[in-house]
Amino acid sequence: MEACIFCAIVAGHADSSRVFEDEHVLAFMDIRPMTRGHLLVIPKPHASNLAELDPGLAGPIFAAAQRLAAAVRASPLRPDGVNFFLADGAAAGQEVFHVHLHVLPRFRGDGLGLRGSFSWPHRMSLDAQAAQIRSGLQA
Ligand SMILES: [Zn+2]
Repeated sequence: MEACIFCAIVAGHADSSRVFEDEHVLAFMDIRPMTRGHLLVIPKPHASNLAELDPGLAGPIFAAAQRLAAAVRASPLRPDGVNFFLADGAAAGQEVFHVHLHVLPRFRGDGLGLRGSFSWPHRMSLDAQAAQIRSGLQA
């Protein structure tokens, strides 16, 4: 039995309610849905986090999620909107350490949302943060 539950699902050694798969990705129902129709899209090869994910799989993951968002909108679930959510790292809320993109159908009044409030930093602060992130691009 695989140590990673999502690898076990990919291998067919753990149950899941599959919705879509191709050679790169698998999509199945989240067993703890936050809304009706809550799906997860995962790469088939194990990647604990974004740093480990083959960049070549980012496109297939997003493309599958885009297709599934359209599918759930066209389905009898009839959501009013869709969010994508990806948690990278425990501090971001990641609980299963195999990269997964949440496809969250949204319904008016469902109460789901990001907590926090917007800030209005000075342009100099934004420029400084942009420079810091650019330095990470070279790393
Ligand atoms: Zn895995």
